Amino acid sequence: MTADEARGPLAILYQELDAAVAEAGPRCALSGRCCRFEEYGHTLFLSAPEAAVLLADAPPPSRPLDDGLTCPWQDAAGRCTAREARPLGCRVYFCDPDYEGRAPELSERFLARLKALVAGRGWPWGYAPLHRHLRDAAARGDFRGPTPPDAGRPR
Ligand code: SF4
Repeated sequence: MTADEARGPLAILYQELDAAVAEAGPRCALSGRCCRFEEYGHTLFLSAPEAAVLLADAPPPSRPLDDGLTCPWQDAAGRCTAREARPLGCRVYFCDPDYEGRAPELSERFLARLKALVAGRGWPWGYAPLHRHLRDAAARGDFRGPTPPDAGRPR
């Protein structure tokens, strides 16, 4: 599976998810906490095809990899610099308390569709935290951002 193979089918799924999220109408206060994982107390998981598209299509990250504390595509103002290529978990997640009840249902529904898509195409699932995908990519030389000296070390 390559990013070129995954891009089109994922774009359709992402578009439908974005529409479903827009219908639910969560508010974003631009706090940026959702991408500072440790501070917000959550971990962003994504599948291998999502990671392939993120790595291929996002601009080079501005910050170095860490051990899952933050996302390297979040800029100094707290904004996502990888919006078009961001994975399902980023699209469905908002810290708006009025939306909290909707996120699990949307997440479950679209994850099930993603799983079916991946299985149907015989792609690897590889569901893992973002920093694991990025560390693997750094070890392969596929991560275009600044990397710490221990980037090839397994976590
Ligand atoms: S890809 Fe974008 S939305 Fe997703 S965690 Fe990183 S900065 Fe946040």
